[in-house]
Amino acid sequence: MSDVILATRGLSRSFGALRAVDNVSLSIADGGITGLIGPNGAGKSTLFGLIAGEVMPSAGEIDFAGQSITGFRPDRIFRAGLARTFQIPRPFPKMTVLENVMLAPTAQAGEQFWNNWFRPALVREEEKRCRARAMEVLGFTGLAAKAQDLAGVLSGGQQKLLELARVMMVEPRLILLDEPAAGVNPALLETLIEKIVALNARGIGFLIVEHNMDMVMRICGSIIVMAQGQVIFTGRPQDVVREQRVVDAYLGD
Ligand code: ADP
Ligand code: MG
Repeated sequence: MSDVILATRGLSRSFGALRAVDNVSLSIADGGITGLIGPNGAGKSTLFGLIAGEVMPSAGEIDFAGQSITGFRPDRIFRAGLARTFQIPRPFPKMTVLENVMLAPTAQAGEQFWNNWFRPALVREEEKRCRARAMEVLGFTGLAAKAQDLAGVLSGGQQKLLELARVMMVEPRLILLDEPAAGVNPALLETLIEKIVALNARGIGFLIVEHNMDMVMRICGSIIVMAQGQVIFTGRPQDVVREQRVVDAYLGD
């Protein structure tokens, strides 16, 4: 048994009468690649929003790296090393690729008013460090040549890589990917998978929402299945496909 990096207990979120996430208790092994699957509307993206601090829970608790993060703000959770990407990438289209990556909320001295005022040299030093790190992660994701291009002109697949670059700015311990393969051409998808596997080899864990079952089966060590807000199955990839509850969920019962 590996250590648990992320755990939720009784996590719930309703929108009016709809229980989008309904009493979800799960544990994610440290350093693994876990798949999160389920039909549209199952609550996967809402669960990501809850874990990342963007959506407030109606009930329940979230622990990350042995500490409660329930109710923490998104930037605090990001800085703690738990980063997410979005199902629909959200770059600032009129800013360059490099600027988009540099905007990730790392611990920047420049954000502090007093530092700006009294310690401009420190701020310049931080900016230099941030720029160097941004170029490094752009190099890793294969986007270095696009650093000065406007983010808005990137292809869908390149925008997914940009999302990955952005979350790498904090040296995360766990990355939540929301449908990384959606709308990505096959060649770029191979690159994306390579990058995920390479990051995982460095000890970074992943929780991945994905409909591309080839990809899920290839890289995930375990799989969680959600339907109608609830976890209906947790297990090994080879067991998921034989599970009648899962088949029923996808067929809409
Ligand atoms: P998935 O990512 O598994 O497709 P979502 O988490 O996006 O599912 O959505 C789960 C359910 O919650 C859906 O029925 C969706 O319409 C609803 N939902 C999600 N976000 C909101 C919101 N902000 N307001 C109202 N309903 C929402
Ligand atoms: Mg979704």
